[in-house]
Amino acid sequence: MHYQPKLDLLTHRIILVTGASDGIGREAALTYARYGAEVVLLGRNAQKLQSVSDEITALGKNPARWFTLDLDNATPESCQQLADAIGQHYPRLDGVLHNAGLLGDIVPMTEQKPEVWQQVMRVNVDATFFLTQALLPLLLKSAGGSLVFTSSSVGRTGRSGWGAYAVSKFATEGMMQVLADEYDSRHLRVNCINPGGTRTKMRASAFPEENANKLKTPADIMPLYLWLMGDDSRRKTGMTYDAQPGRKAGAAE
Ligand code: NDP
Repeated sequence: MHYQPKLDLLTHRIILVTGASDGIGREAALTYARYGAEVVLLGRNAQKLQSVSDEITALGKNPARWFTLDLDNATPESCQQLADAIGQHYPRLDGVLHNAGLLGDIVPMTEQKPEVWQQVMRVNVDATFFLTQALLPLLLKSAGGSLVFTSSSVGRTGRSGWGAYAVSKFATEGMMQVLADEYDSRHLRVNCINPGGTRTKMRASAFPEENANKLKTPADIMPLYLWLMGDDSRRKTGMTYDAQPGRKAGAAE
């Protein structure tokens, strides 16, 4: 995507990022802070979140507060408690990036372990829904909120071996579409990003044989992440966007 945002694109916007401790989420948090946002970091590892927060401080940007929540154990109650804690520090949320995700096992359906299947659904679908429900009141306080889910190419077309992960990403696309239809896009827009193959730990575990140097880095795919959180995407809703349009799904050649 060729998009050159203004450096103050996200000034006065408060944006929460899940899975902000590593990979694409970490980069998104740093990028949003660079473009002026006040960033709220969510993850399960306090040490990693503190180090992202320290990096944001070192950039001389708005300090980022972090909160821990293990999405594997998240309940509607723990998500509500988190939303209440966030609400004590922030008047509203202008953006939420649901980025945290779990890959599960890349094996045929007959070999998918039921317990791993359920874990992938808990993290990628159930917790994302509980969190969305709890955070919606804060998002609806924004004059133009943006709710962004993270999908995948296997969340649009099924692929052999991608089992629980693919099914969870189809559910994510569905959650996005239902929510987009429920809100007036002037108040809340709801969309999905498919990052496309990106150099992270998750990608390396899915494609251990691949040459990671041939992949885009999280920093390379940030233009779409910025566009969806800023005013330039106002009124766009119910869409699923590719951060790397035209990229062929699968291993880098
Ligand atoms: P990483 O594995 O690098 O990072 C995943 C993030 O999610 C980490 O911050 C991790 O926390 C967090 N997380 C995982 N499980 C939990 C949990 N139970 N509770 C709280 N946080 C959790 O993945 P990527 O950056 O590659 O992926 C980001 C998103 O992009 C995912 O939704 C993924 O499905 C999607 N995606 C990625 C692609 C790629 O090529 N990289 C391609 C298509 C989609 P911790 O640091 O503690 O491990």
